[in-house]
Amino acid sequence: MNENKKIKMISKMIIDANLENFEIDDIISIFKTSGYEFNNKEIEIAKNIVGIEREGQTNNLDDNIEEEKQWISEPPDNCDICGKKIKQYFVDGRTNLDLHAPWGFMCILCHEESMVGLGTGKGQLYYKKEINGKFKWIGLYGFNY
Ligand SMILES: [Zn+2]
Repeated sequence: MNENKKIKMISKMIIDANLENFEIDDIISIFKTSGYEFNNKEIEIAKNIVGIEREGQTNNLDDNIEEEKQWISEPPDNCDICGKKIKQYFVDGRTNLDLHAPWGFMCILCHEESMVGLGTGKGQLYYKKEINGKFKWIGLYGFNY
């Protein structure tokens, strides 16, 4: 199953099972005990997306996203590592464990392989969302730690 489909499926399961207000660790253990082979990062991304979608229903998300969490320059077309087209998610991050390594745009899988993780000095994950007919890239992960 590809990454985007998997994350959509997990988001739907979180909503269907009313898990959206649970702590992320609890959600992860619930999925683990139910036999699904989702990794922790996929579950975390899905939970964040559910949060953003929910927020969008009650507020005008356009005005609400903090500026530093929106990608305002031109988004990348392709992953700098594997060349695959960027569709729904990208990481702007350090490309390997060497602290002096160059930064680049990566698909989720290449970022996972880099082992660098997300956070200050590591990388930030962005997610594409349609808001009032326009596509915006919203920062999901790696901003506050
Ligand atoms: Zn890639």
